Amino acid sequence: MIIGLDDTDSVNGMCTTYIGTLIVEAIKEIDRNLIIEPPKLLRLNPNNPYKTRGNGAVSFIVSGTSNTEVLERIKSISFDIISKYSESGDNTNPAIVFLNENSITEEIKLFAKRALHEMLSIEEAISLLNKINAEYNFIGNGRGLIGALASCALELEDFTYELIVYRNHNKRGKKCVSEESAMQIEKRYSPRIFSSYDLKNKRMVISPHSDCPILYGLRGESPEILIEAASLIESETPYKRNLFVTNQGTDMHLEEKEIADVKPYSSVIVKGIVSKNPYTVPGGHVFFEISNSKKLICAAYEPTKEFRNIVRKLSKGDTIIAYGGVLDTEHGLTINLEKIEIITLAEVQKIEKPICKMCNNPMKSIGKDKGYRCKKCHTKNMEASIIKLPRDIKIGTYEVPMCAKRHLSKPLLRYGREKKFEEERFKFNYTNFDISFEGI
Ligand code: ATP
Repeated sequence: MIIGLDDTDSVNGMCTTYIGTLIVEAIKEIDRNLIIEPPKLLRLNPNNPYKTRGNGAVSFIVSGTSNTEVLERIKSISFDIISKYSESGDNTNPAIVFLNENSITEEIKLFAKRALHEMLSIEEAISLLNKINAEYNFIGNGRGLIGALASCALELEDFTYELIVYRNHNKRGKKCVSEESAMQIEKRYSPRIFSSYDLKNKRMVISPHSDCPILYGLRGESPEILIEAASLIESETPYKRNLFVTNQGTDMHLEEKEIADVKPYSSVIVKGIVSKNPYTVPGGHVFFEISNSKKLICAAYEPTKEFRNIVRKLSKGDTIIAYGGVLDTEHGLTINLEKIEIITLAEVQKIEKPICKMCNNPMKSIGKDKGYRCKKCHTKNMEASIIKLPRDIKIGTYEVPMCAKRHLSKPLLRYGREKKFEEERFKFNYTNFDISFEGI
């Protein structure tokens, strides 16, 4: 049986991974062997307007039993935990689904894939669940069913791990996690552990500022290295921890598109030629346009910090590939840049008055299309001087800084480190993994 859940949190607190962890722990208390693989934390469409934070949903597989009594107990425990701990509120619509692994159809797998690129409806999720006679339960309008179902059916290729360490959900306010230890993790373990500390912007990335129970999360390529690194982090007393298989840092949300086919709410990789030079607006956001039969606005918003300095150096005629999420703004379709790849740089010229060859003085214009004349020796010259300006930018791929990176965005440091989920999935012994710190 696969269990999926989503939408249990609100901006005021709680977190779907935490509730998932409480459920996994409760099931492991019945029998450790019921869950032998780490749960999955899957990030869905990052442009989803309904998301609280990172549009994450959680799923896990219960194996090793076909005992109906045990399965019914698991379902009841799971829903009780959701009901007890979910944050209530207008924008919180918790849901849980229970699927038979063999019942996941190609149509559902496609739905899960689309959940990263499009906006889907609650009705479609319910119809798919009903088609396979799946059990599900929800509070509120049922929106959580979209993510809960998608998280059960999403097929992974490349993947990463996240080890999340929690405080008790009743504890609120400032979290004590040592910045210094996050910095040490970055220095010692990057790139095997990524997105820990933004050294340039001096920003700790592992600990969310929101009032959720996450103390910190370490993201990387292997469970063992994350567990080792976590033991070096100084923080307030941790309460629980869990290891997740995730699609974070994989670029799974991006799809190659032609500009003409780009739709709002999708995340795309598009090639185009810069057709309007970069300009900065109040607030520090930088915009430019690319074209390829149709135009698309590209945005490097203020939080992308030094990335904007690269963007500002682009010029009309440059060929680039833009990566990012698309929204329909008042100015038109706009891509929120996560990365850019500069393919070719155009020649940038400056037109200046010519220099007199006889006396080395700048010549003066003698009227439109009439050319130039030297004030001193009266030599005439029809042509202006065309000066080729040096380009202070190189062909290559540039990314936003760590402190502005989306969960799904693949850091450049991960290029070439991709691994296959199906090959690695049973390598880590999750059966013996302790969730509660009392047992560690
Ligand atoms: P957190 O990351 O802290 O768990 P969140 O950012 O995941 O929070 P949720 O509170 O889970 O935000 O809200 C997202 C809601 O959007 C969920 O109800 C989920 O089912 C739904 N959803 C996710 N992806 C899509 C999609 N592609 N189309 C429509 N709805 C979606």
